Amino acid sequence: MEHITTDVVVAGVGGVGSAALWRLARRGLAVVGLDRFVPGHAYGSSHGQTRVFRRAYFEHPDYVPLAGVADTLWGELEGASAQTLRRRTGVLQIGPPDGIVVPGVLASARLHGLTVEALDGTAITRRFPGLAVPEGLVGVLEPEGGVLYVERCVRAATSVACGLGATLLAGRTVRSIRSSGAGYVVETDREVITCRRLVATPGAWAPDLLDFLGIPFRVLRKMLVWYGSDAAAPSPFDADAGCPAFLYELPDGVFYGCPAEGEAGVKVAEHTGGTPVTDPLELDRTLHPADEEPVRSFVQRCLPGLAPATLRHHEACMYTMTPDQHFVVGAHPDWPGLVFAAGLSGHGFKFASALGESLAALALDEPPPTPLDAFRPDRAALRA
Ligand SMILES: Cc1cc2nc3c(=O)[nH]c(=O)nc-3n(C[C@H](O)[C@H](O)[C@H](O)COP(=O)(O)OP(=O)(O)OC[C@H]3O[C@@H](n4cnc5c(N)ncnc54)[C@H](O)[C@@H]3O)c2cc1C
Repeated sequence: MEHITTDVVVAGVGGVGSAALWRLARRGLAVVGLDRFVPGHAYGSSHGQTRVFRRAYFEHPDYVPLAGVADTLWGELEGASAQTLRRRTGVLQIGPPDGIVVPGVLASARLHGLTVEALDGTAITRRFPGLAVPEGLVGVLEPEGGVLYVERCVRAATSVACGLGATLLAGRTVRSIRSSGAGYVVETDREVITCRRLVATPGAWAPDLLDFLGIPFRVLRKMLVWYGSDAAAPSPFDADAGCPAFLYELPDGVFYGCPAEGEAGVKVAEHTGGTPVTDPLELDRTLHPADEEPVRSFVQRCLPGLAPATLRHHEACMYTMTPDQHFVVGAHPDWPGLVFAAGLSGHGFKFASALGESLAALALDEPPPTPLDAFRPDRAALRA
């Protein structure tokens, strides 16, 4: 087995790990990224063309400062990689006026001074003719929100990191991590690496690699589907025609989608639901009728111009849930320099750039760019 010595190892070069690799390399450290697959792959949680980004966060206002840092860093990564990584299509969130989503967006926007626009059903359908609004629901538009091109982001962060001197070892499985003297020993199936600091970002493999946290992570299988439009060109579901990314809070679940760009079609998925995954390497990638049924029903009610018969594509992906659906980000209480981000609970990609920066800072005992207290691994809500 080869023996390597480095400053920092990043175990898992997916959404967050690629950003951590970039932010560490940018500080001039010797950093090695390890992943079972080639970054930008479709076997974890960071694939499927797009991820919605939004800052007026209904889940909790504590996320808003982190989203602001993420926004800035995605822009920095676009500059460093000379690539377009996102599009500000706007994000329209629809739900009951006394539900969770719309009041949550408005509260976060008010607290943090973000620009949003409240719209009633008539205003929504006039402005966005593809979107139907069930009786009694209202909406709120965040014009600065939009979509990130997820695989492109991961590849860009990895390649900018490598351009700054990071080493990527793909096709490696991290077998074990143990503390040793002033640092860590990481064993893969091909080498033994000694490092001073260790960043663990294993996504759906958190139950294995971060078992020492004792957090009951639950991995869920999620399906994404893409539909073609029946409407005459230009389709009201095209980003070029002004269609925003959208999210609906409905009595039977939360559904969302991204507007069509090029031939890809409109991406639609259910945020709620999902079936448990026991082994992420054996994820069932077949689209079964029971997977599509709730999405079809949503499309018929809320995107009537889309013909479900024109299913173009599907992909399987995974959410790694925590009991309270908030992230776990922090440092090991007893092992200095071992830091991690996990349990992003199906809403983490938009923050990946900022989480990468936060982990780089934590690993090096620097203050993170925003408070991370809400994501502490020892919070009571994780022991439920
Ligand atoms: C269908 C779907 C839709 C989503 N939509 C949104 C959205 O619109 N907006 C949003 O913000 N978020 C969204 N999310 C959530 C977001 O995509 C995830 O939270 C985020 O991508 C997770 O990043 P990660 O780095 O934790 O995991 P990953 O990107 O999966 O990275 C983990 C990496 O670790 C590697 N790894 C793990 N264990 C080992 C090991 N032992 N050895 C070597 N390598 C290992 C894996 O191969 C993988 O590359 C969505 C997720 C899904 C599944």
